Amino acid sequence: MAVSSACARPPCDTGFAIRCYPRDYQRARDEFCAASQRCEGRLAEYELPGRGARGERLVIDVARIGPRTASRRVLVSSGLHGVEGFMGSAIQQAWLQSITSQRREFLEDNALEVVLIHALNPYGFSWGRRVDTDNIDLNRNFLLPAEAYAGAPQGYRELAPFLNPTGLPGHWDCYRLTAVRWILRRGISALKEAIAGGQYEFPRGLFFGGLQPAATARVVRQQSADWVGTAARVIHLDLHSGLGRWGHCRLLMPVDETRLRPWCAELFGVSLLDGAGAERRVSYPVRGTLIGWFNQFSGDCDYRGLVAEFGTYSPIRVLGALRAENRVYHAAREPRDQGRAVRDELLECFCPGSRYWRSSVVRQGLELIDSALTGCVDDARQTSPIRVE
Ligand SMILES: [Zn+2]
Repeated sequence: MAVSSACARPPCDTGFAIRCYPRDYQRARDEFCAASQRCEGRLAEYELPGRGARGERLVIDVARIGPRTASRRVLVSSGLHGVEGFMGSAIQQAWLQSITSQRREFLEDNALEVVLIHALNPYGFSWGRRVDTDNIDLNRNFLLPAEAYAGAPQGYRELAPFLNPTGLPGHWDCYRLTAVRWILRRGISALKEAIAGGQYEFPRGLFFGGLQPAATARVVRQQSADWVGTAARVIHLDLHSGLGRWGHCRLLMPVDETRLRPWCAELFGVSLLDGAGAERRVSYPVRGTLIGWFNQFSGDCDYRGLVAEFGTYSPIRVLGALRAENRVYHAAREPRDQGRAVRDELLECFCPGSRYWRSSVVRQGLELIDSALTGCVDDARQTSPIRVE
């Protein structure tokens, strides 16, 4: 069986792609589970403390498609940054809906399993926040055992009063002007690194990594052995948005970039790669990432973890939206009191309403998953007797 024909899927037209975007967390969850069941996926759920914006349970759902005994896996995780779950869920939904009997056979024939992890931060997804119930940026929360949940870059400390103002905003908030002044003084890369790399000192601040493993991290720690399991090879795509050029995908390699880069360039195309040598690099060093944690604890498995980032607006606009939403959230007594305008702007910054953006992100997401599947099989050609012709 040729890989390309086995991977062939129905064309992804704009209408189909748009319909894959959920209206809210609960519907995303319902549709994810229903689509998984339709293609005979094995479902598991992991409930977290708290309730969603409509009183619903907060659950991480996991669907597994393909043989239980698979020796290779493709992991696709969504919604680690709550509000980014809208686009991540849409890609997972589109993939589930595009499964045909031919594609299931392809998984069976190649001992290949797809593990879809839906809504790693269900609280943030439901309430429209990037962080979890404790204001934790979960992609800064996966510190390794030797690392302490403490400290903040000096640049962050200097900028903290500007990044995390208290009280509701008045008429004069010179955010944009101040941000531009900082960028001119420090450069955008240094600024991103100082601000967004992760901090463990300001619990109400942006990019707070927590003081201990959060509820999501505890679930991942317990389940990761099962998700990665005894597979010889795992390719993991962690879906994110808000960084990079409008509607374009960038693949970030949070760990092991030197090893992964040539393989990644061949499989996904060099134009998608971020990191050293990339034109207009968008990533920056981050502490406590999900991928870093998996990489450390994947045992003998050949684990290859990538962050797929889909660009939206300029860093100044995205940071402004995060800052405004965080400010209003903490100034208001209850999360429900958040201003609608700041929540809408945050959603727009991480899942724009544009039909072009939404459909092109789903299309690229499907291509990434297909490439990962193909990559698992192609890699196996070199190291195992399994033949795919
Ligand atoms: Zn993200």
